[in-house]
This record gives sequence, structure tokens and C-alpha cells, in this order.
Amino acid sequence: MSAESLAKSASTAYDAMLDVIAAVEPRVAQATRQELTDQRSSLKLIASENYASPAVLLTMGTWFSDKYAEGTVGHRFYAGCQNVDTVEALAAEHARELFGAPYAYAQPHSGIDANLVAFWSILAHRVETPTLERLGAKNVNELSEADWEQLRHEFGNQRLLGMSLDSGGHLTHGFRPNISGKMFHQQQYGTDPETGLLDYDVVAAKAREFRPLVLVAGYSAYPRRVNFAKMREIADEVGATLMVDMAHFAGLVAGKVFTGDEDPVPFAHITTTTTHKSLRGPRGGLVLAQEEFAADVDRGCPMVLGGPLSHVMAAKAVALAEARQPSFQAYAQDIADNAKALAEGFLTRDAKLVTGGTDNHIVLLDVTSFGLTGRQAESALLDAGVVTNRNSVPHDPNGAWYTSGVRLGTPALTTRGFGRDEFDKVAELIVDVLANTTPNNTSAGAPSKATYTLADGVADRVKAQSAELLDKHPLYPGLVLS
Ligand code: PLP
Repeated sequence: MSAESLAKSASTAYDAMLDVIAAVEPRVAQATRQELTDQRSSLKLIASENYASPAVLLTMGTWFSDKYAEGTVGHRFYAGCQNVDTVEALAAEHARELFGAPYAYAQPHSGIDANLVAFWSILAHRVETPTLERLGAKNVNELSEADWEQLRHEFGNQRLLGMSLDSGGHLTHGFRPNISGKMFHQQQYGTDPETGLLDYDVVAAKAREFRPLVLVAGYSAYPRRVNFAKMREIADEVGATLMVDMAHFAGLVAGKVFTGDEDPVPFAHITTTTTHKSLRGPRGGLVLAQEEFAADVDRGCPMVLGGPLSHVMAAKAVALAEARQPSFQAYAQDIADNAKALAEGFLTRDAKLVTGGTDNHIVLLDVTSFGLTGRQAESALLDAGVVTNRNSVPHDPNGAWYTSGVRLGTPALTTRGFGRDEFDKVAELIVDVLANTTPNNTSAGAPSKATYTLADGVADRVKAQSAELLDKHPLYPGLVLS
């Protein structure tokens, strides 16, 4: 089918869908329409977002949503799961092939769920199994109350070492208020205060001192590549299990931009990811594992999960099939090339970047040189139709709420077809907004961290120039709603 006739079919499908929804709750249909209009007319630079294909989106809107399927493929606690088995097995097969992983688990509903499955699989493999053996029990059902007490004791206080939030790690990498920081005795490694870069010697020294059970690598806001061979060496030296959370950069791994030591899958015992960021699939999670951990991960349900989202697993299968196409490799390379162009666009305009640039899909702009907090920058940019999110910079003086940075990512606009020149123009527009934004004063006369004034005319000027770029690269070309 040609791209044109596919777009025509998608238009028909969405028109029909909106009619059916509107017959029950027109306000939902209206908001759904409006969301498309808004996404089409703004510069989406949120590093964790993308635009999934109509095939992926349509796959999520089916009767698979109605089916319960606790268990695993071929081993369900509900009857009538043969079609769910088909789509889950397909999602896992595509994931194994795409990432070269011995085992894949497609059930996690989100990235956080995938990480929970990974944590509990590691605890089950490394703590529960030896404890059961010592207690002479085959499984937990054979434990007495006193044995349970012993098991709980041995589970508690296990150690996890992950990247700190303000250096770019994720909440689930041991951040104290998150379950990962509560269920584990945690410590964090950061980035070098001068360069903003990961220092593997510092990670190794911390690991030697702390001797974690789990070493977590991966990030949400670190604009550089990670050497996973080195992380595995560190894990092996201290007897830790290496878990890599590649939620952000899975698309760059799938697209073979990150290869060799930068591909986490061969080095990590367990790799987790979301499917909706650079991988461009439905909202969801995925766990990949070496054989040694496969049986433990396979117990994600009942360990931490209930019924899988069958409609989303079906959409994961479609998205992963798309990512196996050669065109996805070109897309992934464009993501990285465009991020470089965006970073260069800022540097030539004297803006400050954490680590001085990027070699992945993220650019972390330090907005203190504009005299702004991240919160003011994020809001002023939104006024001008540029959608970003504020983000801490390492050792952030403004804390996690106001922050000093804005995180930008290239996956979404690259999907629309933006190239290097257009990303340079995006840098120009962002600098135009920030250079024309000033913090308001508080009633006490100090600069506010929240309120600001964007000079007259700037928002309109930037929106007009963005519109030219966006019109050149329409979102879902050919998709027309009546
Ligand atoms: N891991 C990383 C590295 C992330 O950046 C995120 C989301 O931002 C997650 C996990 C959590 O993903 P989700 O929002 O799907 O739970």
C-alpha cells in the first residue's frame, strides 16, 4: 500500500473513531482532536516523547484491551488467551531479534514497572533462591513464619548504586523518595562537577567501597554516551548485577547508532526500557535479560505485575517490527546528528550546555546564563509554542522544582523530518525567547524564580517562524480529519 493510501485509511479510521466517541462523551472527542492540533502546531522538544505511527496508535485501540491474561505465553491463569499469546510472543521475538537479547519480556506497563520487575528478579535470583536453598525449601510456599522472617531480613538492606537525579539519573535509580530508594539501601554516583561527565574511576571507587548488589547504569538527562563494557567490569569486580535502564536511548541502540561498548545489551545482566521514547512505540516497558535471569524475569506476574495490557503488547509488536526496518537505522542516525546540530546552534550563539555538547539525543541547556531558572525558561518557551521540560543541572543551585536547566531532545521533530539546518533554526528561536525573558521581582525586591516577563512581540515572532518549519514537515502527512 502506498503512503498516500495508508494515510487515507488512517483518516477514515480516526474520523470514524471520533464519531463513535463523540456519541458518548463529545468533550473527550473534542479534546482528542485538539491534542492533534496542538501537537501539530508546536515544536515538541521533550526528550522523552515522540510520535508513534498510526499503525502503532491504532493497534492500541482494540478489543485486546478487554482481555485478562495473567501468566506468561502458553501458561495463563485465564482461559481464551490464544490471541494474546500470539501478540506477546511476537513482541518478545521482535525485541530479541532487534536487540540481540537471549530473552525478552513484553508485559511491563511502563518504564517504572520494567525496573520493578528487574529489581525483584535480581533479588529473587541473588537473594531469595540461595536463602530458600539454605532453608531447605523448594519455593516460598514451603516457608514457615520464622523462615519468612529470615527471608525478609535477607531481602532488606540490599544495596543499590545508581546515578543521582541531578546528574541525569532517573527516580528509579535509587532516588530516596522513590520505591527504589526505600526498598534498597542506596548510594548514588554523580558526574564530574567541572566537566559534567561520568568518571568511571569514581564509579568504580564508590562500588568498591559500597559493594552494591545492583549497579544501575542509564539515564534520563545525561547528554553523553556511556561505556557499558566499563560498567560491567566495575560490576564484576564487586560482584554486582549490572542493570541498564536504556529507556531514553533504546531507539539509538535499536538503530545501531550505539554499538560495541555503547550497546548495553551484551554487557548488562538485565536491560530495561520504555517503548515510547526514542524507540517510537506505544507507552510501555520491556525487559531484556541474559539466560541466567530469564526465569526470574518471566515471573514478573505475579511478582510485581497483574494482567498485562494486551492491546499495548500488540502495539509493541508493531512498533518493534517497524524498528527492525532499515529506515529505522537512518532515523536513529538522524536523531543523533540533529542533536549535534542543535547543540552547535546553541554554542555558536554563546549559550551554555551541560558537558559542552551532546553525543546522544539530549541537549541540556543551562539557562542561568540568561538569568533564568528552568521553570521560567520552560514557561516562556511554552508561551512561544516551544514545548520543553525544565531539568536539574548537576549540583543545581535552584533545586529540583525550579531547576537551572531545560532538557531538549530530538527524537520527535526528527520523526517529522526536521534536519540539521532546521535544528540550528530551533536553537536560534530558543535563544531569541530566552534572551528576551526577564525574571520579575518578588514583593521583597529579589528576582523571582517563577514569574517572568517575555518581551512584547517575541512569542508571535517565534511562533510565526516555527510555523514555517512545522508546515514544511507536517505531523502525520495526509492524515486529514473531517
Ligand atoms: N527510566 C528512565 C531512564 C526514564 O527516563 C523514565 C521516564 O521518564 C522511566 C524509566 C519511567 O518510564 P515510565 O514513565 O514509562 O514509567
